[in-house]
Amino acid sequence: MTISNKLQQLVRQRAKYLCEYCHSPEFLSTSLLTIEHLFPQSLGGSDEIENLALACRRCNERRYNFVVGIDPATQEEISLFNPRQQQWIEHFIWTADGIKILGMTPTGRATCNRLDFNDEFHNDGFIQKSRRFWVQGGWHPPSDDPRQKSGI
Ligand SMILES: [Zn+2]
Repeated sequence: MTISNKLQQLVRQRAKYLCEYCHSPEFLSTSLLTIEHLFPQSLGGSDEIENLALACRRCNERRYNFVVGIDPATQEEISLFNPRQQQWIEHFIWTADGIKILGMTPTGRATCNRLDFNDEFHNDGFIQKSRRFWVQGGWHPPSDDPRQKSGI
């Protein structure tokens, strides 16, 4: 990777040290979050900061080279969430308990589905178990993120 340490640090700061997809915090990760290319390098994507995002290994591996996902509500193919062009809070919401991310728009649902934000298709819900501890510790979800009201 040819991205300088300085540029990597700028990407981390801009993302507030959260995975820009599932909002997992870097400080609760066992390794630094990864710098990913929104438009894949293999297809000619650049190392410019506007083409970079901070992502956890799960999201990075699951996004791979995909740029679209299927919205399970309509079965339509939809572009995945792009953290440089879209606002997380407009597409996603946490359940009231802070354990699961729900997609609120076609983009949100297609991205939730493709990246399996709640480990519903992989790893037997593993991330939900981690988040439960994070919530108990008062570290999660990020304070600026929307959350469903309890009782819904
Ligand atoms: Zn993630």
